[in-house]
Amino acid sequence: MGEEQGKVRADAEGELMRGLETLDVACAAGLLLKGEISPQIATGVDAFSMRMPLGVAAAITPFNFPFMAPLYLSSIAIACGNAFILKPSERVPTASLMLAELARDVGIPDGVLNVVQGDAEAVEAILDHPGIAAVSFIGSSPVAKLVHARGSASGKRVQAFGGAKNHMVVMPDADLGFAADAAISAAFGSSGQRCMAVSVVVAVGDVGDALVAAIGERATAVKVGPASDPEAEMGPLISRAARERVLGAIAAAEADGAKVAIDGRGREPGGGYFVAPTLVDHVRPDQEICRREVFGPVLSVVRVDTLDAAIALIDDSQYGNGAAIFTRDGGAARTFQRRASAGMIGINVPIPIPNAVYSFGGWKDSRFGDQHMAGTEGFRFFTKQKVVTSRWPEEEKSKADLAFPTR
Ligand code: NAD
Repeated sequence: MGEEQGKVRADAEGELMRGLETLDVACAAGLLLKGEISPQIATGVDAFSMRMPLGVAAAITPFNFPFMAPLYLSSIAIACGNAFILKPSERVPTASLMLAELARDVGIPDGVLNVVQGDAEAVEAILDHPGIAAVSFIGSSPVAKLVHARGSASGKRVQAFGGAKNHMVVMPDADLGFAADAAISAAFGSSGQRCMAVSVVVAVGDVGDALVAAIGERATAVKVGPASDPEAEMGPLISRAARERVLGAIAAAEADGAKVAIDGRGREPGGGYFVAPTLVDHVRPDQEICRREVFGPVLSVVRVDTLDAAIALIDDSQYGNGAAIFTRDGGAARTFQRRASAGMIGINVPIPIPNAVYSFGGWKDSRFGDQHMAGTEGFRFFTKQKVVTSRWPEEEKSKADLAFPTR
């Protein structure tokens, strides 16, 4: 993962552990797939339900989680009895092949977990293939939308997880040191290339100046370097184009009146697609940098007067993956958890990726289609229900009856 994707070792280990959580959940298949039974629903008649596999399910995964994303989907799909086709990002092809080798080593039969390498052309072939019953997609929102439309049009069950713009609201009563540490970890971990990365801090009331100072101090201390450097806390971006996009977003925000409080341009090591942590202050909610996914180590700070205004900002976002609040006030936290329009909420937790026993998924343009991934919703997605109504008749009591039965 370090060589292909660029993430540092500790981050890669964390990704692996979060991916392995889904194997624990997959091991609960016996419990999660059991059906319901209603004995004697009419005289001599029993009814019961069972969940059946779909057949062949396919997954298309992004570059930023080469191991976790395939594990989140393949483990549950296979536990449900499906064969699985994995099309990883063409930018990080190796982890999926390792996964398939490990699956073979533990005795999963050939043909159950299949890896197909390729780019958009391979995705289109999957979406149009009549033998594939379901498609799970994880990637950017424009592609997620296309995948959802094309796969659904060809009769498949589709869940498509898209991009994000995640907000972290900091209330005036929050522990500032704790909030600043959380903001740094969540904004700059994996160089901001996480769908749950915090990219906007919303400073409520008068907390802005002190918060920016605390985040700024920490941002300049982050050690940037290649994955091969054991000291590095943050690696490079995935490509030259990604670096240019991120630098372009910083320049545009600056030209549009925002203040670059900590500038990552020029502080990065040479020889790769690095951008050092960047903090952009006094961002307006209507600015591109506040609305568009940057997917890089750039944290914007927006200042608002009230919690209501912070919640309205989140409501107004095109995306709805994660949202977090930092506060000591239980009432404010409860208001936030009920009203913030995102699928995953953190209370003093900046990246609220649910444990895999819960399901993962966002709202709005962060997810197209039905059912979140992993957890119980994952088991729903990868199975279809069958209901059996059964009777074992006693011959001498049978008679024809053309009326719709009432008992
Ligand atoms: P991407 O959309 O460029 O690529 C994702 C997958 O789609 C890859 O396998 C790629 O080969 C394929 N693809 C790319 N363009 C395509 C096209 N035009 N037609 C069909 N298939 C195409 O995304 P990425 O750059 O690999 O990953 C980063 C994005 O993924 C970010 O937007 C991030 O927020 C998002 N993401 C979302 C989640 C989530 O759970 N919501 C998780 C991780 C990443």
